[in-house]
Amino acid sequence: MLQKSSPLVPSIYPGSVYKFTDLDTYEESILNPGEEFIYARDGHPNAIITSNEITKLHNANWGMVTGSGMGAISAVLIGILSSGARIIAGKRLYGRTLKILEKDFTRFGVQCDIVDECNLTELKSALSTPASILFIETITNPTLRVPNLKEISILTNKNKTLLVVDNTFATPLLFKPLEHGADIVIESLTKIMCGHSDVTMGYVGGKQGPQENIIKAVKDIGFHASPFDCWLISRSLETLELRLNQSCKNASELANWLKTNHPGVRIDFPGLKNHEDFNISNKQFGTFPGHLIAIEIPKGREGVNRFLRTAKNIPFCPSLGHSSTSVSHSWSTSHRQLTSEQKLNLKITEGLLRVSVGHEGIEKIIKSFDDGIKAAQSI
Ligand code: PLP
Repeated sequence: MLQKSSPLVPSIYPGSVYKFTDLDTYEESILNPGEEFIYARDGHPNAIITSNEITKLHNANWGMVTGSGMGAISAVLIGILSSGARIIAGKRLYGRTLKILEKDFTRFGVQCDIVDECNLTELKSALSTPASILFIETITNPTLRVPNLKEISILTNKNKTLLVVDNTFATPLLFKPLEHGADIVIESLTKIMCGHSDVTMGYVGGKQGPQENIIKAVKDIGFHASPFDCWLISRSLETLELRLNQSCKNASELANWLKTNHPGVRIDFPGLKNHEDFNISNKQFGTFPGHLIAIEIPKGREGVNRFLRTAKNIPFCPSLGHSSTSVSHSWSTSHRQLTSEQKLNLKITEGLLRVSVGHEGIEKIIKSFDDGIKAAQSI
């Protein structure tokens, strides 16, 4: 009978294992894997649906969702590195990424060298010694520096080093690293690609390269994502463009408003002409370089406390990408494990808040920031 209707949205397939009619059919699936599934850690319909959607957004040739952004990062590192390998990492990488590189992978005989990813001379010198991977982020946390991806990919290409880019702060809608010379792209889907703070997931994809080993790491080590979480991400992707566009517009408006109305307050936003990477950002992203800004609240830690107690609509939570605006305090969250000297070297002060601008009405956001800053100033 011809089916006259079907669900508009994908179904959820929670099954952890699939049944076979006999041993021969099972054997055939193992020897000639096709569309069928066997065990959910190796793959399930919702993972395929969501992976394919993100792979398309990145114009990648292969891609896989994982149970977290850190899962995607770990799968790449485990899939590629062996004892004796050398990795070069940007000094502004997400704190946990740096931690596993410096503290965990070194236990297995991997050498990790940290460089300033925004200094091409330093990068060139680091790359003159063979390295398996250069790991950087498209937009760094929390001061929103923008490494020059085009120039960096020329260097990694020349030195036969894999360029791995964590694109979480940009998303494939703002920037597609694979189209600018990166070999592997990573996303923490937990952030604005989800947009509702109700899923922890990641993605890894690429054009070509060592995908077999990375895919094997996801399957063997168990970095897979649950069917329901995949389904939620697919739901979120339907509104990503709408949410991201509005959040980016709001971020730009907030940054400009703050610059005009609180001229003494430090604002880090690559869309402002005084940002160190304004020109690179403008070339890479155009008018809207993301939905994040960083702001230094006057009077340090006490000022931040006063801000948080006053700006009632702006919750403090150590993540980003929610539908409405939130702030994180890098000093005591993402960069907690660094010494004060290391934090200050990265321009992370006790007063610095990273703002994840949401897509609610801009007037409401501006009012909360104005109230919060004035309260901090009044100490
Ligand atoms: N990459 C970046 C840039 C992040 O900010 C984070 C988390 O904050 C991660 C990766 C890790 O992602 P997840 O929390 O999904 O494991």
